[in-house]
Amino acid sequence: MILTVTLNPSMDSIYFTDTFVLGAMNRCSNPIKAVGGKGINAGRTAAILGGKVTTMGVLAGKNGELIRHELEQEPFKTKFISIFGESRNAVTVMDREKNQTEIVELGPEITADTEKIILDTILDFADEQNEGPIIALCGSANTKNDYLYQEYLLQLRDKLGTKVKILTDISGKQLKNVLNNSVKPYFIKPNIQEFSDLIDLPLTSKIDVINNLNHPMLKEVPFVLISCGGDGAVAKYHDQIFDVIIPTIDIINPTGSGDATVGGVAFALDQNFSIEETLRYAMACGMSNALEQAVGYVSIENVETLKNQIILKEI
Ligand code: ADP
Repeated sequence: MILTVTLNPSMDSIYFTDTFVLGAMNRCSNPIKAVGGKGINAGRTAAILGGKVTTMGVLAGKNGELIRHELEQEPFKTKFISIFGESRNAVTVMDREKNQTEIVELGPEITADTEKIILDTILDFADEQNEGPIIALCGSANTKNDYLYQEYLLQLRDKLGTKVKILTDISGKQLKNVLNNSVKPYFIKPNIQEFSDLIDLPLTSKIDVINNLNHPMLKEVPFVLISCGGDGAVAKYHDQIFDVIIPTIDIINPTGSGDATVGGVAFALDQNFSIEETLRYAMACGMSNALEQAVGYVSIENVETLKNQIILKEI
């Protein structure tokens, strides 16, 4: 069983333009409008692959109602809490050269009261399962509490023990605070830029990433996947290090590829697949997402085909 958590879902609009000119009228045809949120995207991916998924989080205002309605059509169960404010809009403009410009609203604030309700909902869910679920905490939250995820990790470990695998796909201060604490997540997936920010070093290549995998902040995190876009990824699984090599593909829209990657990992861990198979699923899901216009969506046929084209080089 998989639970994905999204503390700031959005209504996303993606506008495809020929060129994007600042200060000018930019026309677009065939915009995509869809619900967004890292945990929702990861949950969708895991559910498409055949996982039993529940996705939860918070929704607010009219946009929240719209999102709730849209989520009813999805392949997962939902447990969303209504809070004060308005769920956010996020706008992406993608031009012919695949340059992406984004405008993202802040979203409703996660107050101390809401923090507690979210934690209780996660704990209730875990209690209802026969086996320890995979819990994926994904994405940013509009909160003044930079220790929000660190506190969730502490509370979840305290109440649920180590039978529950907690995955985090977060960045910035929240990730730093999580990794500077004694209770570590089972899995993290920073992209190369997020890893660079985490360790305060300018990293531009997989070699740079590999050379910094012994950073103290990654110590005791059992499974670290640093995704490198079209260059694949570098993985650290306990004492093993893998250069994860992917084939070149003609991408359509890579937005949400990282979320699909996390969905692939959640599915594979829930199925108790080997680390090698898990990495293949992770990459195939990221790539399959990049082959779709839709965000956070994978095609099962593409995943199956791409999975066999991933090369794992143990270092
Ligand atoms: P994020 O979306 O979190 O920034 P990445 O851009 O690193 O994450 O993408 C996650 C994964 O998606 C990559 O490891 C890769 O498998 C796949 N992917 C992303 N961009 C491309 C691309 N241009 N070509 C092929 N695969 C891609």
